[in-house]
Amino acid sequence: MSTLVVSLSALPDAGASVDCTLEEGALRPQGEPELGVTAVRVQGVLEPIGGEYLFRGALTGAYGSVCDRCLAPMASAFRIEAYWVFQHSASSELLDVWGEDDDEADERDEDGPRLGYVAGGEIDLAPLVWEELVLGYPAKFICREDCAGLCMACGANLNETECGCQETQDSGSPSGGRGLAKLAEMFPDLKPKVEE
Ligand SMILES: [Zn+2]
Ligand SMILES: [Zn+2]
Repeated sequence: MSTLVVSLSALPDAGASVDCTLEEGALRPQGEPELGVTAVRVQGVLEPIGGEYLFRGALTGAYGSVCDRCLAPMASAFRIEAYWVFQHSASSELLDVWGEDDDEADERDEDGPRLGYVAGGEIDLAPLVWEELVLGYPAKFICREDCAGLCMACGANLNETECGCQETQDSGSPSGGRGLAKLAEMFPDLKPKVEE
């Protein structure tokens, strides 16, 4: 199926595969802040199981943002495993099955499935896709592990240029530069030669 809305009357007993790619605008509920995700591909299988419906699959795409250090535009690819159960009503029966207190919603989410609901004979996967995207949002964006960031003095991108402001602090080694600079501050006499 190429949509995130599945009509249960059209759902075979064996389940139906879902493969659907959507832009953020088609997923974001009204009033929610923009996440900046690229098109999200939702792949998986929705199947009826004992009066409820299980979706297992994965969401793939990328979060677009800027590097926290150098502010360069970047994308952070994601793959989020989906394990969702859709119920006919908001009964708490299934919650008990998964054996966690309602208070510990976060823990339950890690162990058991995320919950959605059937409405009007249909299952809409979009709200849970959005939930996963929000929960999976990276705490920070770093364009690459050894990103040198911006010069504190002149704002130059130190990945691209040597502005010269920090000649006394930067050893010229991209990976060890920061640590060496720290050392050089602590032990000025041991300051490495940086003339180039
Ligand atoms: Zn960067
Ligand atoms: Zn500078």
